[in-house]
Amino acid sequence: MATQKPPSALIALIEALRRLPGVGPKSAQRIAYHLLQHDRDGAALLGQALTEAVTRIKHCSLCNTFSETGVCETCSSPRRDAALLCVVETPSDQLMIEQTLTYKGLYFVLMGHLSPIDGIGPKDIHLERLLTRATDGAVTEVILATNFTNEGEATAHYIGEMLKARGLKVSRLARGVPVGGELEYTDAGTIAQAVLERRRT
Ligand SMILES: [Zn+2]
Repeated sequence: MATQKPPSALIALIEALRRLPGVGPKSAQRIAYHLLQHDRDGAALLGQALTEAVTRIKHCSLCNTFSETGVCETCSSPRRDAALLCVVETPSDQLMIEQTLTYKGLYFVLMGHLSPIDGIGPKDIHLERLLTRATDGAVTEVILATNFTNEGEATAHYIGEMLKARGLKVSRLARGVPVGGELEYTDAGTIAQAVLERRRT
């Protein structure tokens, strides 16, 4: 006797949920059943929010962070110091540095880090755009605020060499951030200290 197949829309939902990081086939199935059985409103909301976000959120043409406008709020602000450019891996790292309230410069968000093992090279983290951005004439110092993980350190080294070759002053966050440390999980006080005590590379 042939086993009965779930409706195709349900299969499609489970397949879609499997795209989420850390969600395997079993969890995907559980989430799908939960949403359909107990939280249809939530499911509809999730669907709408996803569609909205995917349609409206783009990357800032200057700093590469998520933005609903061509140039983000931070890059458009006249109160920011255009001479300082801080390079971070993710928008959440940028947020962490913002929360220290000690940094008044601008940012460039890589949206990742170099990782040859995963096939992530300079192009994937937009280094050409960073180079254009850093050599705009206004930037005098680039602060490398990638994570203190192996990949983050390697990325900082690579970018540092690239920018120094163009005669730019480059500094790295001070070691207040623990070895292997990710900014997202470091407290604001420690990050503030690391920004203030950044050292020239
Ligand atoms: Zn921006």
